[in-house]
Amino acid sequence: MNLGIELLPSECDVLVIGAGPAGSAAALTLARAGLSVVLVDQHAFPRDKVCGDGLIPDAHNALRKLGVLDAVMAQAQASGFVGCIGPRGGRVDVPGVLAVLPRKQLDHILCSAAVAAGARMFAPVRFTAPIEEGGAVIGATLYHGDTTREVRARWVLLATGAVPQALIAAGMSERQTPSGVALRGYVKNDAMVGRIDKLEIVWHRALSPGYGWIFPCRDGVFNIGVGIADSHDQRRDGKLTKRELNLRQVMDDFTRIYAPARELMQGGTLLGPMKGAPLRCTLEGARYSRPGLMVIGEAAGSTYSFTGEGIGKALEIGIHAAEAVLDGRNANASDANADPRAADAAVRAAFEASLLALKPRFDLYKRANFVNRHPWLADLLIWRARKSERLVRRMSGVLNETSNPGHLVTVKGLVRLFTE
Ligand SMILES: Cc1cc2nc3c(=O)[nH]c(=O)nc-3n(C[C@H](O)[C@H](O)[C@H](O)COP(=O)(O)OP(=O)(O)OC[C@H]3O[C@@H](n4cnc5c(N)ncnc54)[C@H](O)[C@@H]3O)c2cc1C
Repeated sequence: MNLGIELLPSECDVLVIGAGPAGSAAALTLARAGLSVVLVDQHAFPRDKVCGDGLIPDAHNALRKLGVLDAVMAQAQASGFVGCIGPRGGRVDVPGVLAVLPRKQLDHILCSAAVAAGARMFAPVRFTAPIEEGGAVIGATLYHGDTTREVRARWVLLATGAVPQALIAAGMSERQTPSGVALRGYVKNDAMVGRIDKLEIVWHRALSPGYGWIFPCRDGVFNIGVGIADSHDQRRDGKLTKRELNLRQVMDDFTRIYAPARELMQGGTLLGPMKGAPLRCTLEGARYSRPGLMVIGEAAGSTYSFTGEGIGKALEIGIHAAEAVLDGRNANASDANADPRAADAAVRAAFEASLLALKPRFDLYKRANFVNRHPWLADLLIWRARKSERLVRRMSGVLNETSNPGHLVTVKGLVRLFTE
């Protein structure tokens, strides 16, 4: 773990840039299959990552597939519900397989598992530019301090998250502004243990076009934050108001309008500063691949727009990219005359197809943003759900990804809410 830049090898099979969930999931899958994998991150691990730390069912499934779910749950706070709270204070608890684990711990478990499987991790090491030959990426230039190194690789996987600099440097960025922004802090308040034992999401006019959350971690610590979806999209008048982009003001509003948030903050101790970070959503804003390089995780926009959840999909997409590389390698091994360019194109096509298969679900989450913009709809949905077991089951199906969010966020679906 955290090998120094001077030890970087000059070549490997796959170079993974970024050791968040996407990068570590890819590195782990590839290393387990016997490929030589170099994983680099600009920060030495364990490192903090600004996040709500909520693990929804897709994350549980991916962690299970990676073989690290038990290690994660040994440190996480498990929960069986997410409480949805509307502007008038109405609440419905939607059942789901949920947990909360600070990213410092989660990401450390994941990249340690990748290293245990044989990946070599170098940090702090920063990616500056791809190395190109004949239009294809054949490696990357990396640096730390005054040391620069070149690493050549059959594939480069860019897993650099929501900050666009690496995407821009790799020629993959289609949009530099984020899709959303969010702010979070950790508060220790032992008196609230047991009073907030579910993940809570709050909609209110004062928070619109965003929402607030409180997610319970272990040991009396709570992750509390606010997020704004579509933060940089043009409004009809061409710009957002200052209040909409002032997350600290939105956070103050959250503690003003939601009593448990106020009690948590007033009676608790903030552990470190509140920190903000961007989100990239809806599988938009970046090209997915070019010869020799694939973009994975939030760099490819893999966070859900409506809820800001992205750990599970980052893991899944990291696994998809790794599986595409492995399938391509197996196909090559079984055909000695295979044209390497065609084989690369097949790997990229398989990877891109896996993203496109997920795109309709991401689009529905983007459409669901109208609840963030019109929070009275949350009241309506909660009021209806309190009268209908069936609707709660359907909401739970969306959370568990066993049913389609179209039932809840399309006009047809809304009409059905009142006709069933
Ligand atoms: C405030 C907030 C709350 C959120 N809450 C939740 C939640 O509760 N649940 C959930 O599922 N999702 C949540 N998300 C979304 C979640 O954080 C992301 O979807 C997830 O982190 C994406 O994983 P990733 O591996 O793609 O990127 P990241 O986790 O961002 O990892 C990228 C890594 O790349 C490294 N890196 C970047 N540039 C370089 C470079 N040039 N060279 C080397 N390394 C580089 C970074 O240091 C980092 O370690 C939240 C996001 C925010 C901002």
